[in-house]
This record gives sequence, structure tokens and C-alpha cells, in this order.
Amino acid sequence: MARRTVYIETYGCALNFADTAIMKTALLNHGYEIVDKIEDADIIIINTCTVRLDTEEKMSKRILALGKYSKEKNKELVVAGCMATAQPYKVKKLAPHAHLVATYNVHRVIEAIEKRIDLLEEPSKPKTLFMPNPRMMLRGLIAEIPLVDGCLGDCSFCITKLARRHVYSRPMEQITSLIQQLVRRGVVEIRLTGQDVAVYGVDIAGRRLLPTLMRKIMDIPGDFMVRIGMMSPDQLEPVLDEFIDALRHPRFFKFVHLPVQSGDDNVLKIMKRRYSVDQYRALVKEIRSKIPGVMIATDIIVGHPGEDEEAFQNTVRLVEELRFERVHLAQYTPRPRTVAAGLPQVPDPVKKKRSKILGEIIARIGLEEHRRFIGSRARVLVVSPGERGGLDAKMFNYMPVILPPNSARPGSWCNVEITDATWYDLRGRVLECTEPG
Ligand code: SF4
Repeated sequence: MARRTVYIETYGCALNFADTAIMKTALLNHGYEIVDKIEDADIIIINTCTVRLDTEEKMSKRILALGKYSKEKNKELVVAGCMATAQPYKVKKLAPHAHLVATYNVHRVIEAIEKRIDLLEEPSKPKTLFMPNPRMMLRGLIAEIPLVDGCLGDCSFCITKLARRHVYSRPMEQITSLIQQLVRRGVVEIRLTGQDVAVYGVDIAGRRLLPTLMRKIMDIPGDFMVRIGMMSPDQLEPVLDEFIDALRHPRFFKFVHLPVQSGDDNVLKIMKRRYSVDQYRALVKEIRSKIPGVMIATDIIVGHPGEDEEAFQNTVRLVEELRFERVHLAQYTPRPRTVAAGLPQVPDPVKKKRSKILGEIIARIGLEEHRRFIGSRARVLVVSPGERGGLDAKMFNYMPVILPPNSARPGSWCNVEITDATWYDLRGRVLECTEPG
């Protein structure tokens, strides 16, 4: 019998791409073939994201189109991921014949296909025990390893809480073994991802194990760098000293992603974030005082319910004060089945205006900070051919430096001179490189 063929489309963040790697591994293990063209497939899988309203709209259109196409061509359709988990009713309306696979069931995708069932119940065996094939995790010389799915928070704006309800940590031996295999395949940048990597371990050991894992990673031989993913400030606080100690090791990019979301205590309360602005400020100051040159990346939502003009100005003041090295700015959009969606909303034009004001401040600060680098020298790791034609390289603190095309080999370490800067990144000229070993 000919092998059954599967076409997969993936949307969203690193966690979804990691889930696709798990599905691909399971499919290959069971004799299915993955194909690049939808026309060649017997089965279509769409791995969905629903983080914002515009994402949901885009997903809905795609699911509708795939629903029609799969019916016409007599192909099977599987809808996996966050939208299938958090909004199954909506997906079923768009494509009634599709089989749904929740984020925590991606390792069981074969059952959905072969038994033609939905998999929306929590599994008895967590997916984090399933070992993905490292080949499926590669993105050139970069690989993303999901440490932990889910978080301990209950933020009023977040739909992901519905899609990834419980904390599932990947066993430590599995992570170190994956890193070893990836490094053997030439990976030079490993990203440890999760919604909140600071909670890594609470489900398997009853305590936070991120610093312990980091110490284990220091002992793995090879020339590679590791970037630690997003951490909730209140979850990092209990292990801050240990974390800072571990982050000092040269194996780790001096990069800390600590979403603040708002610079106003009242809004933080409405958001159900479990820290105050003062606590957050203290964390940032402590990290900066102990790790010189560290990049603090943060996330900010403007226009959350309860954000009046004064609250917005408090956020502006915090951004001006802390001068974050990186800010991911988003306008709030109501998500179904979340607390914030039921609260009085900030009008759209106000959200837009605030987003524009803050966006300009972030760009101004970025440019001021980055211009200081012009004329200086830096050592960078070349990680990939860049999207805009040049080469993407990273400084010790994960600051991106774009180099001219073909001026170095991906995987090499180079000394560069910084020649220009934008609000987002730096531009450089290669002086000399060490070839990848
Ligand atoms: S976890 Fe959030 S961002 Fe990632 S795929 Fe799900 S909804 Fe999208």
C-alpha cells in the first residue's frame, strides 16, 4: 500500500512550531510521508494560533478555505493548536468534518487520523514525555526546544491559558540529550522556549529547576549559545540569584525576556499580573547591576481594560525610565472566554493613538541607545542568512547585527566593526572570523 502523505501548515509562536515537530515525528514513526505541496497530500493539518483577534480572523479564513478544499478533493483535515483547543466550537462551525487535536495531544495525532476522532481531553501521558526527532526542530543553525508548556498565571487578557492549561515540563535528560544531538548536527543557537520558562520543573519536581538545568547545559561540550525564553517576573523572583549566577556563564546569551505588560499598578491588578511596578523595577535593576550589558526584553499591552490616560502615562514613564533594550508592543484585543473581554473596553481610536505614541518613544530610545555602538567593535556569532539579504549575527547579549551578504560563514564567530544602527538592530562590517569547528 502506498504511504499516506501529509501536508502541514503552522502558525503562531515557537510552541506551535515545536508541536509541529512532535506531530511530524509521530507521523514519520508511523510510516506517513510529509509533503511540501498541498496537492500531493492525503491529509492536511493546520496548526493554529489565536493569540489576537486579527490572528483569529486570519485563521478562520484559512480553516474555511481548507475545509472547502479538503471536501472537494476528498482529503482529510486535522485542525490542531491553540484555536482548536480554546475555540473548538468556532473551528467546528468553519469545518464540521475536521478532526480537532488539542495542543496537549499533538503526540497522539495518529489517533485523530486513524480513528477519525477529536482529541480535546487531557491525555493520560503528557506530550512532554514524547521525544521529538531533532531533525524536525532545525531552522538552519538555530533550534528551538520547548522546555515547558503552560504557565501558573491566570492573566485576564490571555487566551493561551485556555489552550495550554497546565504546566508540563520536559524531562531534563530529554532536553540535554536533544541539545547534544542538535549540536552534533551543527546547531549554534539553541532557544529554550515556553510561555513561562521560570516555572520549568514545578510539575515534575515540585520546584523551579531552570537554574539547575542551566548548570547541566554548561557541561555539554560544543561551540553553541543558548537563549533563555520568556519568564513571568513573579515566577523568576524566587530563583533570581541562582538564575543570575547561571546566566553569567559564557554559554548563555545575556538576554532576559521579562514581560511587564503595563507600568501602572492598577492595570497590573486588573490584568491579574502578580507583581507591582516597584517589584518589576527592582528585578530589572538587580539583573542589570549583576550582568553588565544585559538585554532586557519586555512586552507591553496598551489599551487594556482599566487603562485610563494616567495609567498609560505611567507606562510611558516606566519605558522612559528603564529604557528597555527591546519592547514588543501590542494593542489589546478582547479574546473570547477571558475575563478582560467582559470588562468595559478602551475605544479603538484611543488604543491606536496610545500605541502610536508609545511606539515612537520606543523607536526613539532604541535609536539613541544603538547609535552609541557606531564605531565600536564587537564579537558576534553568525547564525543565519538574514531575511533582508544580509547575514544575521548576534552579540553576547543577543543584540542583532546585520552583516553584508557572503561576508562570513554561518556558524562562525567574527570580530566586527559597527558601522550603522537602526532603532531595532545594528549594522556591521566583518574584520575577521573563526571558521565553525
Ligand atoms: S501559545 Fe499563543 S502565540 Fe503561541 S500559538 Fe498559541 S495562541 Fe499563538
